[in-house]
Amino acid sequence: MRNEENEENLIIDFHAHIYPDKIAEKVITSLEKEYGFKARAMGTANGLLKSMEALINFSVILPVALHPNQVKSINNWISKVSQEHNEFIGFGTVHPKMKNFDEEIRRISHDLGLYGIKLQPNEQNFYPNDEKFLKFYEYCLDFELMVLIHAGHQMTPRTPVFSTPTRLREVIETFPELLIVLPHLGGYKMWAEVEMNLSGFKNVYFDTSYVFGFLEEEKTIELIKKLGVDHIIFGTDFPWRNHSEELEKVNQMSFSKEEKRKILGINAKKILKLDSMLLE
Ligand SMILES: [Zn+2]
Repeated sequence: MRNEENEENLIIDFHAHIYPDKIAEKVITSLEKEYGFKARAMGTANGLLKSMEALINFSVILPVALHPNQVKSINNWISKVSQEHNEFIGFGTVHPKMKNFDEEIRRISHDLGLYGIKLQPNEQNFYPNDEKFLKFYEYCLDFELMVLIHAGHQMTPRTPVFSTPTRLREVIETFPELLIVLPHLGGYKMWAEVEMNLSGFKNVYFDTSYVFGFLEEEKTIELIKKLGVDHIIFGTDFPWRNHSEELEKVNQMSFSKEEKRKILGINAKKILKLDSMLLE
């Protein structure tokens, strides 16, 4: 198949979570208790591959280290599993309390071949615009890594909400050249604040994970238009959501075929700078 034809049907899930086989069941069970609902699939490499079959070309894998001492081993595992499976695009994790995180950012970029870094301020207990953390973004710029920052509430309400659209706006304005991806259309259950604060930034993208069913369809379309179709990327939050159902939601929205192609794959391919070799 030629690349152009491949690009036409390219589907990238920019938001997936998997765990090593040995601990997956334990982790998922404890998260199910916390969230109060069941995972839709097994959150392992094989579980994800099975769910992607015939639907999704690539999945971005997003880890979170809850303690500084987990950072290295998690990053090593993400690197290994993404090398084993071409379908996976690995992101790294850092922790705001770790020492020498410039060294780990260098390792993530140079040695481990990962594409970006995921931050989870609500679970890592820090404000993304905290002055003490600003060096982190500078290093990411230096090492040409994009940053995906959880945005908005948690699935289960928790205070404080560390990662609000207003705080994220400050980061964006301080680092206009940094490529930033904000999940859940810029702020889970804070979409009015997103609309007021987060449109019009050249290097900011928004994934669609965990939005459908929580924000009315009409409002979702309105927000996507406000943020710009060129800045929207498909994401599911696997294993918490189902691939075919999430795809169906995008496909049934009143966007043109071309706009849907951008949301489902082309925008993500552009920011990941995916090699066309990969798509052959
Ligand atoms: Zn997630």
